[in-house]
Amino acid sequence: AAKKKHDNRIVQYFAAIEDHVHERQRLVHDLREALTNGELYVCYQPLVSADELSMVSVESLLRWRHPTRGEITPALFIPIAEEFGMIDEIGRWVLETSCREARHWNDLSVAVNISPMHLSQPDFVDQVIDITARTGFDPKRLVIEVTEGIMLEYADAARRVFDQLRSVGIKIALDDFGTGYSSLSYLEEFRFDKLKIDRSFLRNLETSPEAAAIVHTIIGLGNTLNTTIVAEGVETEAHCRFLQAAGCNELQGFLFSKPVTAPQIMRRMMMEQAVNRDLEFLRVAQG
Ligand code: C2E
Ligand code: MG
Ligand code: MG
Ligand code: MG
Repeated sequence: AAKKKHDNRIVQYFAAIEDHVHERQRLVHDLREALTNGELYVCYQPLVSADELSMVSVESLLRWRHPTRGEITPALFIPIAEEFGMIDEIGRWVLETSCREARHWNDLSVAVNISPMHLSQPDFVDQVIDITARTGFDPKRLVIEVTEGIMLEYADAARRVFDQLRSVGIKIALDDFGTGYSSLSYLEEFRFDKLKIDRSFLRNLETSPEAAAIVHTIIGLGNTLNTTIVAEGVETEAHCRFLQAAGCNELQGFLFSKPVTAPQIMRRMMMEQAVNRDLEFLRVAQG
């Protein structure tokens, strides 16, 4: 009986693996259709200045509304797109959609996440320049976000591409800083315009003096290197006050806004403008 039970478990185990493989194959298939079926869309999350807490930038975050399974997280489908050769097409689509939707958002900058595999394509820079030209988006407002993985696997491509992007005014941000195999020598060599402190450090801010010290040090380093420091995952007023006191430049997190749709960004922008006009009016009136 014990042997029988054991055999059953093995059968169940392999059935579970098979389910998992099928599940993945289905996702790969569905993702190929998602672009043409209009199931993908982009949300935007505000980045606010640390001093005035006014919106200075947004990050484009890809979303997939699956017809039967609902929202699927990019943490799940981006790796699949990378593995099955779909990331270039998806990356181009996110770039183009973001540039088109954000074109009239005054001087807000727009940050787009780009996978290492896509960025290292020989024609990546041409693609970006073509998209900004076609959509009429000012390249000086565009930020390309990359993760540390790019320096490990594609260092040569990164050197070439960053220089070419910068020559047309596009900025480069290093995302999730402090988590991967970061080496400080990357900072010297690649001269990022922005560093985004990974949100895992903020999560531990209150409980861990080490996390607080690390955040302080990264901000100090950024100030010295003239690199804009962004904190991701700002969820509480305590986070906000700590980061302001430490000299962080920009803040991003649920405390200010979750990722929202393009019209919601537009509304927020107009509301901030109206408030600023009122404040200016009061200043003049009190003269
Ligand atoms: P990321 O680039 O580091 O983006 C920030 C993630 O943190 C987003 O998750 C955002 O919703 C989340 N976040 C922001 N503020 C907070 C907060 O206060 N608390 C918490 N708990 N989370 C917060 P999301 O949208 O699920 O994206 C996950 C990751 O998927 C992104 O991390 C990025 O690596 C990847 N991704 C998203 N869109 C794209 C894309 O268009 N292309 C590529 N290549 N990757 C993308
Ligand atoms: Mg990012
Ligand atoms: Mg990040
Ligand atoms: Mg991340």
